[in-house]
Amino acid sequence: MLRFAPSPTGDMHIGNLRVAIFNYIVAKQRNEKFLLRIEDTDKERNIEGKDKEIIELLKKFHIEYDNVVYQSQNLSFHQNFAKKLLEEEKAFACFCTKEELEKEKEKAKKEKRAYRYSGKCENITLDEALKRDEPFVVRIKKPKEIVEFEDILKEKMKFEPNDIDSFVILRANETPTYNFACAIDDMLYDISLIIRGEDHLSNTPKQIHIQKSLGYTKKIEYCHLPIILNQDGKKMSKRDRASSVKWLLEEGFLPEAIINYLILLGNKTPKEIFTLKEAIEWFDIKKLSKNSPKFDIDKLRFINRAHINLMDDKNLATLLGFNEEDIGKLAKIYLEEASTLKELKEKIDKIFAKREILEEFKKESEILKSFILKYRDIEDFNEFKKIVSNKSGLKGKRFFKPLRLLLTGSEHGPEISKIYPILRKYIKRIIK
Ligand code: GLU
Repeated sequence: MLRFAPSPTGDMHIGNLRVAIFNYIVAKQRNEKFLLRIEDTDKERNIEGKDKEIIELLKKFHIEYDNVVYQSQNLSFHQNFAKKLLEEEKAFACFCTKEELEKEKEKAKKEKRAYRYSGKCENITLDEALKRDEPFVVRIKKPKEIVEFEDILKEKMKFEPNDIDSFVILRANETPTYNFACAIDDMLYDISLIIRGEDHLSNTPKQIHIQKSLGYTKKIEYCHLPIILNQDGKKMSKRDRASSVKWLLEEGFLPEAIINYLILLGNKTPKEIFTLKEAIEWFDIKKLSKNSPKFDIDKLRFINRAHINLMDDKNLATLLGFNEEDIGKLAKIYLEEASTLKELKEKIDKIFAKREILEEFKKESEILKSFILKYRDIEDFNEFKKIVSNKSGLKGKRFFKPLRLLLTGSEHGPEISKIYPILRKYIKRIIK
């Protein structure tokens, strides 16, 4: 089984969505189940409603899973496994105060070395601990040997026991830390491959150490994805608005285009424009670049235009708030100067909005209006143009400028000859 394990602590990041897409694709390729696990054990960081938002987003992107589980449902497992480790003396109760630990961290910082737990409580037995009747956290004892694992995209990874350290697995309020809950759940659900961001690389040996300590011998495969960078070469953060999936959708990027772009990013694909279904046919996780890819919004805009162009005309019209298939056709012509649904909607809405006629062409506009209405049944633009120009006596700039303004509400745009055949059908709605 594969899994996507988001925390409901903020807006979904494009890096998370990329992780979800890859897990989904590989699950389909391997014919394995796909689990959505909402990692909600850190109650202080959870944001109300973010779980629902994640579920809705996955639906919008057509990323289907076989089951959804909230990590907090497994609390009793987490607590019981911590207890087992305590009883087997693979973990110990730690009574060190926050102040004490802070002091040690400060000291390590001053001495320019990485902080490690002092080992002060390591020899307190469980009996002793329970007798104390004071709150404590549970720390797992650091491993005795190097922890190694293979990663699909990296060289063999090796971690020294000291770097793994004796870390906290259960907080004083008896809730599990991320690494503990994650390691237990991956075991409980028989996860075969974990695809996640590179930022979790140092968590992996901790999770393997937890599982080994509990006697779990199955080898889980790992694939840590390089972090997506912004144009300045820095990790994409909240400050980069395009890092938020919600923002991209609000801006009018299609889910299909976002998926296409995220699969293309840092990858070698047989073609540039494709659907998720097609990607399942040829996607190869091993071919992903080992280097961090740079997010390029212009490329995403290009891909978005391609997917809008592939859409059914009627569906496109609906997304823009219209009913007629023709409006979808019209919008596609406007793709030469717009890339998102939001930009297209602005263009189309302007056509149907109340006109602001330039003072300079007021007289011409009045004359033109009646002739446009009169000859709108002429399908061919050249013919229409000839007749209206002749009858109105207007030529050149004095003809074309007010004509464009009357028909489109803008001074610039696609060639009138391209959009006129559609616009003429709506003249009465356009020229009020
Ligand atoms: N809850 C973690 C996160 O959102 C996921 C960790 C994992 O995939 O193991 O970063």
